[in-house]
Amino acid sequence: MIPPPELQGQVVALHHVAIAVRDISNVAPFYAKSLGLETIGEPEYVADQKVNVLVLAAGGQRIELIEPASPDSPISRFVEKREGLHHLAWQVDDLEAVLVRLKAAGLRLIDENPRPGAHNTRIAFLHPASCGGVLTELVQIPESASN
Ligand code: ZN
Repeated sequence: MIPPPELQGQVVALHHVAIAVRDISNVAPFYAKSLGLETIGEPEYVADQKVNVLVLAAGGQRIELIEPASPDSPISRFVEKREGLHHLAWQVDDLEAVLVRLKAAGLRLIDENPRPGAHNTRIAFLHPASCGGVLTELVQIPESASN
């Protein structure tokens, strides 16, 4: 299969792997202590998603532990069934332009416009049906940030 041209040169890197959990404080010690990942800051409440997010990193790779911050959080139903891998996030330089191109190419977008993410990022989700069954997030980091 020839890759479609919509995003060639647009995806900079894998930004994070998100793991949905019921309680960050129960799971964080495995990543921080058993695996020795570096905890980046404190858990952050992301109001738009109604989740708390804790970022951990090693070797330039990061994971995000996400927990529901209220019963009507988008991930509440997910973690009721099971904790586990929730989505992959890819960093792009120009999120709005990428969303326009993907929509024009017929991909299913969950978010047609960027929303606020953790650490002052802008994010948008793509539907798993267009992404090989994986919930996919696109992330644009703020201009002033170095990572
Ligand atoms: Zn994410």
